[in-house]
Amino acid sequence: MSEDVNPFESLQEQIDDAAGYLDVSEDVLTRLKHPERVLETNLTIEMDDGSLETFPAYRSQFNGDRGPYKGGIRYHPGVDRDEVKALSGWMVYKCATVDIPYGGGKGGIVVDPRELSDGELERLTRAFAEELRPIIGEDRDIPAPDVNTGQREMNWIKDTYETLENTTAPGVITGKAIESGGSEGRVEATGRSTMLTAREAFDYLGRDIGDATVAVQGYGNAGSVAARLLEQELGASVVAVSDSSGAVHDPDGLDTAAVKEFKRETGSVTGYEDATEELSNEELLTMDVDLLVPAALENAIDGDLARDVEADVIVEAANGPLTPEADDVLTERDVHVFPDILANAGGVTVSYFEWVQNRQRFYWPESRVNDELERHVVDAFEGLVDAYESNDLPNFRTAAYVVAIRRVVDAYEEAGTWP
Ligand code: GLU
Repeated sequence: MSEDVNPFESLQEQIDDAAGYLDVSEDVLTRLKHPERVLETNLTIEMDDGSLETFPAYRSQFNGDRGPYKGGIRYHPGVDRDEVKALSGWMVYKCATVDIPYGGGKGGIVVDPRELSDGELERLTRAFAEELRPIIGEDRDIPAPDVNTGQREMNWIKDTYETLENTTAPGVITGKAIESGGSEGRVEATGRSTMLTAREAFDYLGRDIGDATVAVQGYGNAGSVAARLLEQELGASVVAVSDSSGAVHDPDGLDTAAVKEFKRETGSVTGYEDATEELSNEELLTMDVDLLVPAALENAIDGDLARDVEADVIVEAANGPLTPEADDVLTERDVHVFPDILANAGGVTVSYFEWVQNRQRFYWPESRVNDELERHVVDAFEGLVDAYESNDLPNFRTAAYVVAIRRVVDAYEEAGTWP
């Protein structure tokens, strides 16, 4: 894990790599590499003991050429301005890759939510919602969950917004609980797109995913669902999974649902009694498996670690888990990397379906959500392969950016410049 790689610079490098294959002028390229605006604020709340504490928070609205800004809000002590800018940029190109009518945004609060009580978290979330209120809206900027946030936080934000605006506007935020206007299938959606991408990737490479061994780094919402669906829907053998406490390994395949239940009860995957051994995160990332799924945070694999990766295929469930140097090393070594902006795009795609349902006040069954999601992921995969083959591109990440940048630039240029 590389702490010193700035994810915002990584994003810019990824855009530059793809721009080399596109006819985009320098000035438009500059626009593609910088956020339109960033809100930086400080949220002061009363703690349970009566003291006051202040938490820095950000919302970056990167690009709105294809629609309202869209993207999650994360709670993590490592959040900073450049991380949020990078994550918001990745949302732009993610929404364009799967062709949903959104731009990109992202927010974050510098906080370790495990150190706050439920009441403190609610006050913090509502304080952020109050700051966000003037710049978000159903047609303006639509937040969602990200690392360490979920339905509960989204419900608080919706309630704060609707109360202050004196209206009902469930589409102002996605990832809500079903009773608060959420969508069937949203919780699983990120992991489902990772599973679908892996299925399409193995098919494309002429390999059988049902015979594949899999290691998953990160066992939060994205990683645990991806692992379960790879095991249960595709028959793959998930031989190792990890979280921040370490990794567990069973060469005969883990029961992914049982590991999830164990983590829910104890707070971590380590200690899971049916595993044959425990490993470090680094050992998991360099295991000899057919498929590696990084599903934790940015920069999990840097250039040095990439030299030791033994997996043949990587499907990214996390945002930005590979540094640009890791990408170069893996491309050189013919390891196929299927990028985050496709492989975890299920979350925002079903957010889009949630927003459509909210706007229509008409709700879909889960089967329809999953069918539409599959269609978006499969179409996007085909578009990416087509770009990869017809432009003779070095890897699938560059292919995804070529497709996505073209769509953003077309929207920008068709709209014209004003004033
Ligand atoms: N946080 C998720 C992501 O990184 C989902 C964003 C959304 O649903 O808007 O894609």
